Amino acid sequence: MTDYHPLLQRQIKKHLDPRLDLNSLTQFLDSIQSSYLAADDDRKNLQRSLELSSKELLEKNSELRAVFQAFPDIFLRINDDGLILDYKRSQTEGFYLLPHRLHGKRLPEIFDGPLSQSFEQALIKVKEEKSLQSLEYSQAMNGRLHFYEARILPLLENQIIVIIRNITERKIAEKALKESEQRYALVLRGANDGIWDWDLKTNKIILSDQWKMMLGLDDLDITQDPMEWFNRIHPDDIQMVRREIDAVIHQGESFLKIEHRILHKNQTYLWVLTRGISVQDDQGTAYRLVGSQTDITLRKAAEDQLRHDALHDKLTGLPNRTLFLDRVNRLISHSQRNPDYKFAILFIDLDRFKLVNDSLGHEAGDQLLIKFSKRLKTCLRASDTIARLAGDEFTVLLDDIRDVRGALYFAERIQKELTTPFIILDQNIFITASVGIATNSQEHTLAEAIIRDADTAMYRAKVKGKACHELFDKDMQNRVIAQINLEADLRRAINNKEFEIHYQPIICCRSGRILCMEALLRWNHPSKGMIPPLEFIPLAEESGMILNIGQWVLETVCQQNKKWQEQKLPKVSMAVNFSARQFQHQNLPELIKRTMQEFGSPSLTLELEITESIAIKDANFSVETLTKLKKMGVQISLDDFGVGYSSIHCLKLFPIDSLKIERIFIQDLPQNKSNADIVSAIIALAHKLGLKTVAEGVESKEQFEFLKLEGCDEAQGFYFSRPVPVKQATELLLNKKSFG
Ligand code: C2E
Ligand code: CA
Repeated sequence: MTDYHPLLQRQIKKHLDPRLDLNSLTQFLDSIQSSYLAADDDRKNLQRSLELSSKELLEKNSELRAVFQAFPDIFLRINDDGLILDYKRSQTEGFYLLPHRLHGKRLPEIFDGPLSQSFEQALIKVKEEKSLQSLEYSQAMNGRLHFYEARILPLLENQIIVIIRNITERKIAEKALKESEQRYALVLRGANDGIWDWDLKTNKIILSDQWKMMLGLDDLDITQDPMEWFNRIHPDDIQMVRREIDAVIHQGESFLKIEHRILHKNQTYLWVLTRGISVQDDQGTAYRLVGSQTDITLRKAAEDQLRHDALHDKLTGLPNRTLFLDRVNRLISHSQRNPDYKFAILFIDLDRFKLVNDSLGHEAGDQLLIKFSKRLKTCLRASDTIARLAGDEFTVLLDDIRDVRGALYFAERIQKELTTPFIILDQNIFITASVGIATNSQEHTLAEAIIRDADTAMYRAKVKGKACHELFDKDMQNRVIAQINLEADLRRAINNKEFEIHYQPIICCRSGRILCMEALLRWNHPSKGMIPPLEFIPLAEESGMILNIGQWVLETVCQQNKKWQEQKLPKVSMAVNFSARQFQHQNLPELIKRTMQEFGSPSLTLELEITESIAIKDANFSVETLTKLKKMGVQISLDDFGVGYSSIHCLKLFPIDSLKIERIFIQDLPQNKSNADIVSAIIALAHKLGLKTVAEGVESKEQFEFLKLEGCDEAQGFYFSRPVPVKQATELLLNKKSFG
């Protein structure tokens, strides 16, 4: 380059900028062309110094070549007939024009069909008008459409230069822009959006009427100062909005899309979606932002609702398991950084909630859950989280307690709160809760683990007799595991002949004679000894094993009665307890009939003891089953009468024979006045309805005397005999023992 004329050098330097556009290039070539023409003129006119002219020409030629090499375009030199003289193909961009296709050809020949024609015409124009002609066209290459622009300009008298530039990228960009603008315009027209147009040079913003209307504003309320817009944006959102707008103005982001709150004239905030694009000048500097504003308040509210629903229980509105776990996990991480930090989890399970559900219906059950959760809130601090995990299971997260006494205090408060009844369907409902408590330790790394501990403690509280609370300790875990093992043992118990039936007599109050023997199941566990029914019957019930066990009891009782009859012992009826699962068996009457026929004597009188809650569960089904049983001569006793929630109406509804008055009412007779009144009332009511009464759990002479006086029909309890094995029961019958 150093050999060139200084002026030209400067020009080349300037124009070699690869971003140089086609216009500048054409101008540059024009200037070179004029110097050519000038040199040509010199030669023609002065007709001297041929050497000098050709030297200059040579120089000019190499200058030209240098310039050509610097551009990514195709340069072709053709004669005025269009014949290709020479060409330069860019190294940087691949064109479809391969050298063998150019050699010795006329320019129009390298194109097909109509395009070839266009080139012919352009050539004619260049020749005739001596002016630049340009031509845009597209060609498919490698399955893709490429766009080109050809400029054809006269060079010397019989020479023409052709510059072909690939403009595909520009075309695509133009097309995309056009499409996005069209799409944008469509969107604006379709929606009730507000429009804003911000001139960054004058810093004025034009807001459309719709934009203003959305915020309840009119022209007087807001000017063209963008600050007024920003001032309306919610303080919590403004920083984010500014950051995003900045990115579009200064960092070349092409689109703006932000959701934020903005103040309505009525001083409430709307949620809006603000969208925008920047308009840039040739240097890529944004000088204008245009966009829209959409009211998304309803959508946001719906989203909030969805988020709330996903984390809360529908019925009570309390946090659900997911949210609760999340909060506990947060506290676990906090406590790992602060080892002195203590929190506790209470696991609360309502006692006999099922009974409420079964006797008063699900709606009443739901009411109770709602009222209970409200009452629970009054016992706790605002910082504590109460959640409903499932059914009647609630958990409480007691945040930041000093020690376990804090948790015990709350558990006691909850129990105390429950001493007041809930009023549901105009009835007073007393409910108690079993509460398990666990506090955090460094071993707890997962919320589930500490909740499980609280659950284990709750389970122990239930077993201990409900309406109480228990603190989790390590042993507890073992006891729960023991429970699970017990269930496994239970499965083997029938085949291993580990069950035994004890019999407890039921006495006629008037004659003192034994009228009936109640069969009470005993489990003689090979290693644990005698296990009381209340410890394994719920397990058997839950696992369904009760059906097999119950069948075994029924068969054994029938056989025993037959034996006693064969031994010519005084005739007694046989009472058998039935659990819910057994009673709900579809073919119960048929099953009992077959068992009695197969194992019992024809004169056997069977009494079925069921509790009120069992009968009420599905009243229609129960009436049907009980009626069938009665027809077969089976007697029906309502067990544990007085502690359930059934109504007097049920006593009429079900075809029953007798009421067994629950032990609780008998135990402190006759001193306890209110119990004495209850017992008298039950006896009177039963007699009115034509039912027999049986007092359970009679332990003393005084109790028996009182019951006799009140006209109770039958009695049962330790005062007469404990439940005893067959041998002793047989002796009782053999001795024709009479109880006075
Ligand atoms: P339940 O039907 O209420 O049986 C009466 C329970 O009270 C028996 O307890 C009996 O031993 C006890 N008892 C009787 N008289 C007195 C007394 O004077 N004072 C005291 N404190 N208690 C007395 P047990 O044998 O532990 O049975 C408990 C429950 O297990 C029974 O309650 C019954 O619901 C159930 N059960 C027993 N055997 C069977 C069975 O074969 N099948 C079913 N499904 N349940 C059974
Ligand atoms: Ca019973």
